[in-house]
Amino acid sequence: TVGAVAVDKDGNIACATSTGGMINKMEGRVGDTPCVGCGGYADNNIGAVSPTGHGEAIMKVTLSRLVLFHMEQGKTPEEASDLALTYMKERVDGLGGVVVVDPKGTWTAWFNSLQMSWAAAQQGELHYGLYRGEHFVEPV
Ligand code: ASP
Repeated sequence: TVGAVAVDKDGNIACATSTGGMINKMEGRVGDTPCVGCGGYADNNIGAVSPTGHGEAIMKVTLSRLVLFHMEQGKTPEEASDLALTYMKERVDGLGGVVVVDPKGTWTAWFNSLQMSWAAAQQGELHYGLYRGEHFVEPV
């Protein structure tokens, strides 16, 4: 996956997700990526989400919209991501990760898959990392 979320100076929020799909996928499979609320969601009032992971699980729980639902209820991007990914694991045994931003520019890269690499640019400062579980592996 290559996924992105962004908020501009006027408060407009966007998400984008691109994928090659899952390995050995069935011919004709439509994964989560093109499905609104699953492979991405953006709302200027709440935030934006772009996910990666098991597409079938992501679709079953509408993962992107679920993260934003928790943010609507007052959770931070990090708390909302953790709640949604924990739910996806417990409910349909799915693993994945999300990048999330809220209207103030507060962002997170959160995952329960084995690893996820991410980068973030905020007010000219670049943050990046490749994490395997809790452990930082190497700069990417
Ligand atoms: N979510 C994608 C799919 O299931 C896989 C990925 O790129 O993470 O098609």
